[in-house]
Amino acid sequence: MQPAMQLAEFKNEPLSDFNHPEPRRRMQEALEQVRQELGREYGLVIGGERITTPDKLKSFNPAQKDQVVGVFSKADPELADRAIRVADEAFKTWSRTTALERAELLLETAKILRHRKYYYAAWMVYEVGKSWGEADADVAETIDFAEFYAREMLRLDKPLPLTPVPGEKNYLRYIPLGVGVVIPPWNFPMAILGGMTMASVVTGNTVVVKPSSDSPVVGYKFFEALEQAGLPAGVVNYLPGSGSQVGDLLVTHPRTRYIAFTGSKEVGLRINELAAKTSPGQIWVKRVVAEMGGKDSIIVDSEADLGAAVEGVTVSAFGFQGQKCSACSRAIVDEKVYDAFLEKLKARVEQIKVGNPADPDVFMGPVINAGAKKSILEYIEVGKKEGRLVTGGSAPDGNGHFIQPTVIADVPPQARLAQEEIFGPVLAVIKARNFDEALEIANNTEYGLTGAVYTKNRHKLEKAAELFHVGNLYFNRKCTGALVGAHPFGGFNMSGTDSKAGGHDYLLLFLQAKTVSEKVA
Ligand code: NAP
Repeated sequence: MQPAMQLAEFKNEPLSDFNHPEPRRRMQEALEQVRQELGREYGLVIGGERITTPDKLKSFNPAQKDQVVGVFSKADPELADRAIRVADEAFKTWSRTTALERAELLLETAKILRHRKYYYAAWMVYEVGKSWGEADADVAETIDFAEFYAREMLRLDKPLPLTPVPGEKNYLRYIPLGVGVVIPPWNFPMAILGGMTMASVVTGNTVVVKPSSDSPVVGYKFFEALEQAGLPAGVVNYLPGSGSQVGDLLVTHPRTRYIAFTGSKEVGLRINELAAKTSPGQIWVKRVVAEMGGKDSIIVDSEADLGAAVEGVTVSAFGFQGQKCSACSRAIVDEKVYDAFLEKLKARVEQIKVGNPADPDVFMGPVINAGAKKSILEYIEVGKKEGRLVTGGSAPDGNGHFIQPTVIADVPPQARLAQEEIFGPVLAVIKARNFDEALEIANNTEYGLTGAVYTKNRHKLEKAAELFHVGNLYFNRKCTGALVGAHPFGGFNMSGTDSKAGGHDYLLLFLQAKTVSEKVA
């Protein structure tokens, strides 16, 4: 037990309103500062030591393909092994620190991020093509994770009530697991990387973080903030490198105790399988926390406010170019309002401005890389055959990986466009005979991450609350933008292990419980 720490109740970090001159000016300045820092070289970090290797990983601006954002030394299997061993050594001391010390580290990190939030947001504009608003929200979510998990750790550090037994003194306390491997995606390059890393270290674990090859600089900036906040060497080891080259070694290493992964279903399932095999010398069953893909639906009922539904679908489908696991990729619309909805949707989507997100008026930037662009355009061709192209469908000219926001209507519920995760600005519109059929269609994929329903009918909302099988269900609002603390996040079925990041159960995934019972006179 430690001295109590008085913290104000957790509140979400406010988002910036870039219509106001002050945040606008500060973001412009941050973009200019970061522009001058582009193209620098970084080493990978093991035990606090910057290590340079001959093999380099280059990160490019997806809105300006030839602009190098940063150059990283790449890890190889030998360095990956070293990183795990260093983390294992650091665990001996970090696991014995108090919950209070570790919570303070996160609170200090939150302060640093808050103080320079436009600087961090600007890196995301350059490295992954986020609009100003999306980048600002990513930093705010990272701050929320820091503040929320700090409070959660202090809560879990308090004794848990146990059933009294005469003649015994019993208590239970949570202890860390060991060395974790953190493998995040590029689409929330700070919030997801930071969330999984901070959950690990605040619970007393040590980690090797392997960032996505598409966003190593943003991850490094977060790592630097942790260091500035007082993170001891070796507790977090920052290891950029190709997932296919070092991923298996990190996952199968006998000293790896758990893997916290967020990314595609394919990679998540592979990690889960590999982690289930026992390596020589391994003395535990590895834990896997895996948050994976989605094929998320918004149901638009005959009794919906169509204007609100059009807005919610548009923002959910095309915000950050549809590259969110929570993005709406299917609008399932009651046939009674189908034509009216489509007409309004087309008009709304055609107002979207696509371009370089360094421009504050741009809503949709580029998709992440050339491979993603090719795959999305192939899906659009499939969609043109499976359904009817309503708007978009091609790639505008420019020096970036741009794709127009695309709507394909009359898509059959079992079509590829209705079933497979595209991860880009492509919306399938599906017609349903009635609300019950809409619910059936909503549940007909292998995923179960987010969903939304637009209707004014309470009975239908109650039915959806029972039957719509997703981890995060929203009524009469968009299906993206989960807030830490308010909307614990994680999905069912092939969307992952339902870890509910940003919720009260999350830190338990990084802990194990020890019960101590003493016979007393
Ligand atoms: P991804 O291709 O699965 O990559 C995710 C991470 O896994 C990257 O760091 C990647 O490294 C690494 N990786 C690749 N192969 C690996 C291997 N064999 N072993 C270990 N690690 C390996 O996913 P992504 O394109 O970055 O992200 C998009 C996906 O994430 C979508 O499916 C989206 O739905 C999902 N997502 C889910 C959530 C959620 O909360 N459910 C949130 C955000 C995103 P490299 O970059 O070096 O390949």
